[in-house]
Amino acid sequence: MDRDTTTCFVCGKAILLEIAKTNECGRAVHEECYVLRMKLEKATTAGHMFPDTAVAAPRSIDRPRRTG
Ligand SMILES: [Zn+2]
Repeated sequence: MDRDTTTCFVCGKAILLEIAKTNECGRAVHEECYVLRMKLEKATTAGHMFPDTAVAAPRSIDRPRRTG
């Protein structure tokens, strides 16, 4: 076998050039790795953008009840 391979930028494993995708930096990546990477970045960005929402949301359930 003399197929051309390169290294996946995300997972560091070998990847065939004929199935390699290219990320925004022009690096070869597995399609799966590219998708995972996108999801990860999206999740990370959302977490940093709305820290207050994530913390404040559960509080409404746990409000002390006033009696009397
Ligand atoms: Zn990969």
